[in-house]
Amino acid sequence: ADAAVVPALVIGTGYGGSVTALRLAQAGVDVHMVEMGMAWDTPGADGKIFANTTTPDQRSFWLRTRTKQPLSNFLGFPIDKTIPKYTGILDAEEFAGITVYQGRGVGGGSLVNGGMAVTPKRENFADVLPTVNPDEMYNTYYPRANAELGVGLIRPAWFDTTDAYQYARVGRKHAQRSNFPYVFVPTVYDWNYMEQEAAGTVPKSALAGEILYGNNYGKKSLQKSYISKIRATGRVTISPLHRVVSVVPATGGYKVTIEQLNTTGDPIAVKEVTAAKVFFAAGSVGTSKLLVKLKATGALPNLNGEVGKGWGDNGNVMCGRANHLWDPTGALQSSIPTLGIDNWAAGGAFAEVAPLPTGIETYASFYLSITRTPNRAQFTWNAAAGKVDLNWQTAWKSVSINAAKTIFDKINSKEGTIYRTDLFGVYKIWGDHLTYHPLGGAVLNKATDNYGRLQGYPGLYVTDGSLIPGCTVVNPFVTITALAERNIEKIIATDF
Ligand code: FAD
Repeated sequence: ADAAVVPALVIGTGYGGSVTALRLAQAGVDVHMVEMGMAWDTPGADGKIFANTTTPDQRSFWLRTRTKQPLSNFLGFPIDKTIPKYTGILDAEEFAGITVYQGRGVGGGSLVNGGMAVTPKRENFADVLPTVNPDEMYNTYYPRANAELGVGLIRPAWFDTTDAYQYARVGRKHAQRSNFPYVFVPTVYDWNYMEQEAAGTVPKSALAGEILYGNNYGKKSLQKSYISKIRATGRVTISPLHRVVSVVPATGGYKVTIEQLNTTGDPIAVKEVTAAKVFFAAGSVGTSKLLVKLKATGALPNLNGEVGKGWGDNGNVMCGRANHLWDPTGALQSSIPTLGIDNWAAGGAFAEVAPLPTGIETYASFYLSITRTPNRAQFTWNAAAGKVDLNWQTAWKSVSINAAKTIFDKINSKEGTIYRTDLFGVYKIWGDHLTYHPLGGAVLNKATDNYGRLQGYPGLYVTDGSLIPGCTVVNPFVTITALAERNIEKIIATDF
């Protein structure tokens, strides 16, 4: 074990961790970032860093021997396949009642997500973070987050004409015909690049269906935004394939125990670092699992009873609709969604019109809905099994299904169409087994104070999606980024 002392250690390199590390470094603080996933900076045998969605390989999944694709079936047939076990990019982490998809690597969820960068409507903000002043968020921190992430909108004239968004135009038409408000969803994709992809002048990425297993060109992941600025400060060390397993109080701060992993996920070395301050940014699930374990096993016994509580799935539920033959959705579909149907006020659902980039005409419309749901689960330490459990129940998704139906039952009845039953199994309409949007587990102003300081342990902070109590009304990463900007500004001003 090598010994070292760092002023600030950040666990995880997703949105919360990247914001925190950048602002600390700009304030003159040296930072060590620890990331269990890979660096994702080196091309594979095919010359590309990331695998395509249609041809998953070892790079695609975190320590699995078989893919676990969110859409498990097509025309009723299972499409998962055997792959070598590897520290790949997408983790399909299984808990009792739900599979939680997460990104693994330097950049966290930004490596695998759809890039939809949505700021909640201000009128709904009290449902998202009830103890945060909306003025400071909407005047300062949401604009700051949007600017740093590089958020932008599709050019409307291009949307109206490109083959790649025919599926979204069909989605818009159906929304309009059933009188649902629709919105253009901002994204972190480089829209000029996508137009060049369509023109055939640059290598294709969104228009080649790249999304779930990484995006080789046009998407501005954190690697291209916050993390490139982090590197430019010269004050931050990033250690990929290193996983934090323990944090305990020690002279001068906290002793952090870190396992170095090989690419089949086995620990090959154990290191100890003393850090004056430690920022938990391992994502909602990663941070919750660490804190619950450390409290229960006596490493951090004074963490309060709110740790592990308030976890939600952002009401995620998926479905497909079968269109008539005169309503084709297109063989070419951009992997980056850009249109949403907003029925939040009336029905508690905000539905993204999502692509089905299969490369063939499917006559299908596919949607990811974010819904209002009261259900919250809790992480607990399972001493017998030596792991953290989550008590989510699949049946809780019925609330989300009912909310999504307020949109799609109406559209189906207006269009004379039906739901697809072949995407999630054999005769199964609803994708109710998963979430892409884990939130909560160390809720702001409950497990922490109103700025993410963990109660009972000066110098320990939470900075990621675990602060948000289960729902962001829309897609979460802009809110996670803006909240981290708000919290670290206060912490730098008062704690350093
Ligand atoms: P993360 O981004 O999850 O980062 C946490 C990091 O910590 C990870 O890199 C992880 O490997 C690392 N880590 C965990 N445990 C440890 C440990 N013990 N030691 C070291 N490192 C550790 N959101 C949107 O807003 N728009 C979208 O379009 C969108 N699409 C999505 C599509 C998919 C398929 C998925 C999976 C998610 C999507 N999301 C989307 C959600 C979004 O990506 C997440 O909400 C966001 O990444 C969470 O940010 P975070 O900072 O909380 O943590």
